[in-house]
Amino acid sequence: MAKLKLGMIGWRGMVGSVLVERMKEEGDFECVDSYFFSTSQVGEKAPELSVSETLKDAHSLEDLSEMDIILTCQGGDYTNSIHPQLREKSWSGIWIDAASALRMKDNACLVLDPLNSDLIKEEIKKGTKDFIGANCTVSLMLLALAGPLRAGEIEWISSMTYQAASGAGAKNMKELVNQMGRLHQVGKELSEDGRSDILKLDALINDSLQGRDSQFPTENFKAPLAGSLIPWIDVPVEGGQTKEEWKAGVEGNKILGNSKTSLIPIDGTCVRIGAMRSHSQALTIKLKKPLDLEKFEKQIKESHEWVDFVPNEREITTQKLSPAHYSGSLKIGVGRVRPMNLGKDFVNVFTVGDQLLWGAAEPLRRFLRLYLDNL
Ligand code: NAP
Repeated sequence: MAKLKLGMIGWRGMVGSVLVERMKEEGDFECVDSYFFSTSQVGEKAPELSVSETLKDAHSLEDLSEMDIILTCQGGDYTNSIHPQLREKSWSGIWIDAASALRMKDNACLVLDPLNSDLIKEEIKKGTKDFIGANCTVSLMLLALAGPLRAGEIEWISSMTYQAASGAGAKNMKELVNQMGRLHQVGKELSEDGRSDILKLDALINDSLQGRDSQFPTENFKAPLAGSLIPWIDVPVEGGQTKEEWKAGVEGNKILGNSKTSLIPIDGTCVRIGAMRSHSQALTIKLKKPLDLEKFEKQIKESHEWVDFVPNEREITTQKLSPAHYSGSLKIGVGRVRPMNLGKDFVNVFTVGDQLLWGAAEPLRRFLRLYLDNL
């Protein structure tokens, strides 16, 4: 059988380049004939993986229509502009997308196969054509709780997030490092002098953090992130939530295939912190029955191969359960599992995962393989 044609869009970006690396590692490009598109470098030399020597035009409906599968990490504006035009032209290929634009459309399926491979396969059989990666924080939370969720033991979840700069894009990651650099620059002399007055150092750093330092960069975050945090991610939605907080409930339940009567309430506060590319979340979980700690831990440990269970002990938690440890890894750290004083049916969980891998790129490439394997 001839190989299907895959159009890669947004492959130069942050999510796209992580995706391409993973696809190379897993041999995904060997299963398809790949064509690389660009919105800004049309006609320039394409990567070696490409069948065509030059980059195709990501705005050419004609070229895009020749693809059997389009995999895009280009962003929501691109999706909103191109996807409806292609479908209007009766293009019936498979659209795989990292952006949020189509996630909540009725005819789009959210992909996170360790949780919903049966649902994905059903949607493929039904003729669904749009398969979308979910929000990074949502995917990472569900991967951490896959076992207890599958067992139907969770009544509701409150998620307090500690989200990395990468979720806001490459420029923001650079700005975080530049903010750190500036703080080090202003405080260097006093911080390196063991006998210096700590309050003087603190006052100098505060000048930068509180807007009295014109060289402290805040163009992208609009606020200090290094040495501080930002308890607001994305735009406001109704009821005082941010869109990031809203996504947890709606996307989480859509991935799980829950109907209106079986919805699991999920809500919390999403906070940007000065981590580079791994998101963390502190979860307060209300169970349907009193906690059986041993059983709950077993459900987490045995849920899938990517869970890395960290015992609730000081040394190993300090060493491992952090963005620093899990960045660049496909493992999802899950720890701080303990009963809570709130009641017998509450459990505390802390989880960390790389938001560019399982949070963005990995569900997309795994869907591609699942789709190709089920042809
Ligand atoms: P990005 O890094 O800004 O890349 C998007 C596009 O910008 C590239 O494909 C490229 O397109 C163009 N570009 C312009 N200058 C560039 C440069 N110097 N280097 C690389 N690319 C450049 O976007 P992203 O953060 O990967 O996000 C893509 C989509 O994934 C968004 O919808 C986002 O919401 C979603 N998503 C992001 C994350 C995340 O953590 N960032 C997580 C989950 C989902 P051309 O080649 O056409 O010029």
